[in-house]
Amino acid sequence: MPAMNPTPFPNLLNPLDLGFTTLKNRVLMGSMHTGLEDGRKHFARMAEFYAERARGGVGLIVTGGFAPNIAGWAKPFAGTLATAGAARRHRQVTDAVHTEGGRIALQILHTGRYGYHPFCVAPSRIRSPISPFTPRELSARGVERQIQAFVRCASLARDAGYDGVEVMGSEGYLINQFLVGHTNQRSDEWGGSYANRMRLPVEVVRRIREAVGPDFIIVYRISLIDLIPDGSSWPEVLELARAVSAAGATLLNTGIGWHEARIPTIATSVPRAAFTWVTRKLRDALRAEGNHTPVVASNRLNMPEVAEEVLARGDADMVSLARPFLADAEFVNKAAQGRRDEINTCIACNQACLDHAFANRIASCLVNPRACHETELRIVRAPARKRYAVVGAGPAGLAAATTLAERGHEVHLFDAAERIGGQFNMAARIPGKEEFDETLRYFARRLELTGVQQHLSARVDAAALVAQRFDAVVLATGVTPRDARIPGQDHPQVLSYIDVLLHRKPVGRRVAVVGAGGIGFDVAEYLAGGADLGAPSHTTNLAAWLREWGVGDPETQRGGVVRAQPEPPAREVLLLQRRAGKHGAALGKTTGWIHRTALKMKQVEMLSGVNYERIGDVPGVTGGAGHPGRVGLFVSFGEGRKDGTVLEVDTIVMCAGQEPLRELQAPLEAAGVRVHLIGGALEAGELDAKRAIDQGTRLAVAI
Ligand code: FAD
Ligand code: NAP
Ligand code: SF4
Repeated sequence: MPAMNPTPFPNLLNPLDLGFTTLKNRVLMGSMHTGLEDGRKHFARMAEFYAERARGGVGLIVTGGFAPNIAGWAKPFAGTLATAGAARRHRQVTDAVHTEGGRIALQILHTGRYGYHPFCVAPSRIRSPISPFTPRELSARGVERQIQAFVRCASLARDAGYDGVEVMGSEGYLINQFLVGHTNQRSDEWGGSYANRMRLPVEVVRRIREAVGPDFIIVYRISLIDLIPDGSSWPEVLELARAVSAAGATLLNTGIGWHEARIPTIATSVPRAAFTWVTRKLRDALRAEGNHTPVVASNRLNMPEVAEEVLARGDADMVSLARPFLADAEFVNKAAQGRRDEINTCIACNQACLDHAFANRIASCLVNPRACHETELRIVRAPARKRYAVVGAGPAGLAAATTLAERGHEVHLFDAAERIGGQFNMAARIPGKEEFDETLRYFARRLELTGVQQHLSARVDAAALVAQRFDAVVLATGVTPRDARIPGQDHPQVLSYIDVLLHRKPVGRRVAVVGAGGIGFDVAEYLAGGADLGAPSHTTNLAAWLREWGVGDPETQRGGVVRAQPEPPAREVLLLQRRAGKHGAALGKTTGWIHRTALKMKQVEMLSGVNYERIGDVPGVTGGAGHPGRVGLFVSFGEGRKDGTVLEVDTIVMCAGQEPLRELQAPLEAAGVRVHLIGGALEAGELDAKRAIDQGTRLAVAI
């Protein structure tokens, strides 16, 4: 008999024996708020969403958070499990998962003072910096009622067919608020000493265990590093871990950072596996005491080899991946079947998941628009095979071409460039956006698998397309940079973002970036950090990243917060916008603050309300030997065009937005060819890859 190929992921795929039950592998799908929890009408969708993930091989699913009562709501009418009627509705979810051979636990989330509603409660009457609602201070009886609500919710979860619950004790929610002095200023038996402050989680776990019996999974999500100045100390974290495991927790899952922390914890610029060293500390300490409660690592684990290494090193017994299961439901099966290169990798952009959740929209995924839309976006075989041309291999064209081919059509994909990816090739060069290359790796493989015929380095014109008599042409030709029409902009020291990022033209020591949209921000970060001068990205250097953001050892510093030590900027950068107000207002809700902070750390000067009057030489200002001298950006400010001044710089980089590129549309239509426009070719305003991929996929499913 031929020898079986050993899997490259033996630890990841190793079953985990919990005593009363065994999980089939070490992969936990972490809790994510998708918005499907918040309306009974979404339960069928939720069932399909989790069933696909169960079919994809994940060991244990944890649902998005459900409140145990109204006080615990994340927002008005948030998903709540508090009645037998509600429990019955959950049956369709648990049945669907069990039919696929999966396991599922319900997360019990009591938001405390993070609740975005007037009924929120907390240990003390102290408003959080991220909610406008001041919480009501719980009385001692009120605390008791919250515990009872947790226990009722867990019992109902069991009745509903769940295999367990996760008690959300991290991220700064109610339980976390009880643990920490600055949010818990009580003097009764629930405040004061640490023994009193940790009584709430211990009672919650103990009484849930009493109520649900010994054969039900209780995951306790413990905040290992609060990342707020006066967070828990390490001895406190250890004491809590010991106490909740003694009280009956089956698994200890890692929580990193409160929501109000000013240190990024899951964004794409955070290095992969950036926090598993903290989980390792906990695991080592517990093992040294003979406590073998399995510990779960989390945050920025997005590929199987990353997770495997974490387990092989002994940082954890299990790994929690959340967003990677939005990106690819089949993550585990693909890893197990030696198809790692087919995984659609979560690039940690937050654009369709967290940003949607914060905007009260159903979550999805930038790289996988089917996520949470499984029931409506089905990719089914077309009744008749047709011939399609897709022009442009950027995100929109790639999504359209591969989906059309998957449906059985003959697809020809053309791009003028020598490689696929369109603007994603520039995005991936920005420090902290290296993950974007994974999307291109995924699509390159999917093009192969689906049999799309690729024609690269092939700028096509309308005549060539007409001659090939396609059934239809999909124009995904993207955009062209907007002409800002600033007098003198043809000066040799004026470059476009394409010159800088793609053609790597040299940029001087003092730079003005015209336009502070997404690309202006990225270009400013790229230049201020010196990526073009060879400076390594901190996203691939954990020690440097921790130093830059001020993350310390929680064993020596409460909450793990130390002084941030950013590296000095590589050059002077001015980032300009015409509108008044703060820069980056249109950036992602959950990531804009990170980009703003990163630029501040690099001392980027941000000017608003700028009028660009003209560009020209600055008399008398010359550079060193062989240096072309400085160019002047003549500006004024505000509606009154006041305070005229000249910004003397070495280089001006234009990032003034984009216009659709669809020059092929008219001649094709005139020749009677059916044309579909997607992505930037359709509309450049507020275009991003989320919209491009979504449109490409939806078009391919519909035609
Ligand atoms: P494009 O990506 O522009 O692709 C169009 C393709 O068409 C090109 O490859 C071009 O060569 C080809 N083409 C054009 N005409 C022809 C022709 N006649 N024949 C053959 N081929 C042709 N978006 C996000 O969502 N998140 C981000 O974080 C993000 N960061 C970015 C950072 C940078 C630096 C840049 C530049 C962009 C970033 N974007 C980001 C934007 C994102 O890349 C675009 O929204 C997306 O690429 C648009 O996709 P598209 O397919 O419509 O067009
Ligand atoms: P953008 O976000 O529309 O920003 C264009 C910038 O140029 C704005 O600051 C705009 O603001 C300025 N501008 C517009 N017209 C101008 C003119 N005539 N003269 C001078 N300035 C002008 O576009 P972008 O930065 O080119 O990005 C393109 C798309 O890619 C965007 O839709 C963006 O969402 C996406 N993207 C997203 C990310 C991300 O992280 N999510 C990153 C990069 C790109 P003022 O008018 O105030 O100056
Ligand atoms: Fe990951 Fe971005 Fe998809 Fe969210 S939207 S799951 S962060 S790729």
